[in-house]
Amino acid sequence: MSRIANPLAAAALMLALVAGPATAQFDDVVVKKHEASGSVVMLEGRGGNIAVCTGPKGVFMVDSQFAPLSSKIRAEIETLSEGPVSFLVNTHWHGDHVGGNANFQNEGTIVVAHDNVRKRMSAEHFNDLFDRQMPASDAAALPVVTFSEDVTFHWDGGAIEIFHVGPAHTDTDAMIYFRKDNVLHMGDIFFNGYFPFIDVTSGGTAAGYVAAIDRALALVDDDTVIIPGHGPLAGREDLLVYRGVLQGTTTAVEAAVEDGKTLDEVKAMNITGKYPESWGSGFVQPDLFITTLYRSYQK
Ligand SMILES: [Zn+2]
Repeated sequence: MSRIANPLAAAALMLALVAGPATAQFDDVVVKKHEASGSVVMLEGRGGNIAVCTGPKGVFMVDSQFAPLSSKIRAEIETLSEGPVSFLVNTHWHGDHVGGNANFQNEGTIVVAHDNVRKRMSAEHFNDLFDRQMPASDAAALPVVTFSEDVTFHWDGGAIEIFHVGPAHTDTDAMIYFRKDNVLHMGDIFFNGYFPFIDVTSGGTAAGYVAAIDRALALVDDDTVIIPGHGPLAGREDLLVYRGVLQGTTTAVEAAVEDGKTLDEVKAMNITGKYPESWGSGFVQPDLFITTLYRSYQK
C-alpha cells in the first residue's frame, strides 16, 4: 500500500477493500517486485501484498489483489517463471486480497483458503461500519480447496505451511510460511508501519489480533523475511514494534470500555497520539482504528 495522505482517497480505498473494485481506479497502478528471500518475491500493486514462489513445478502464489490488476500481476509473474500458476492461497476473504481469484482460476490455477473464506465469499454481507451491502462472489472466485486448521504443500523440496489464526483481523485468516526460504506472509495480521483494520463485522477481534501476532513471533527468527498484508517488507524487529503499538492501544481501549466510557470519550483520550503520525496515514486513520477496537471490546 502506498501512503495515502488524502482522507478522501483513503476512504475510497477502504470502500474498495470491503466492496470490490468499482470505487477505485487501477489504470495508474504499477506492480513492483521486491526480492524477499530465495525463490520468494513480493509483488506490490494496490491492495494486499502478493507473494510469488517460483520453482521447477511452476508458481505458488499468495493473494490476488483486485480483478482489474490480474493482467499486470500475471505479466510480472511471467518475468519470474514460465511455469503455470498452480496454486493461489488467500490469506483472508477481503476484496483487496481475493479480487483476482476468478481471473487466475479461469486459467487453471487452484485457489486454496480457510473454510470461512469460502463461506463468507458465498454469502451476501452487510458491513455496518461502512453501511455497505456486499453481494456474494461469483462461483469462479471461490476457493476450491479449503481447510479448517492447517495444510502443508510439499513444493520443490521445501514445505509451505499454511495455518489458520484467529479470530483476528477476520475469522478467515491464515498465514503462509515458506520454510526453506524462511519467509512468512502474515496477511492483514501485519500492516507494517500503520494502524491495522480489525474487521469486527467479519468476526475479527482485537484480543485475537494480538494473539495472532504472537503466533507469528513464535515462528520467526532474526533471519525471517516477513511479508505484511500492507506496507514494506519487514523483519522480526519491525514486528516487535508493531506488537508494542497493538498491545499499548488495545490495552488502553479495553480499560476504557471497562470503565464505561463512551466511544466519543475514548476518541477524545487520544490514545494513538503518542505514536508517529505516519501510523494513522494509511487507510485506517486513528478514529477508525479506535472505533474498531472499541467495538471489539464492547461485545
Ligand atoms: Zn484485510
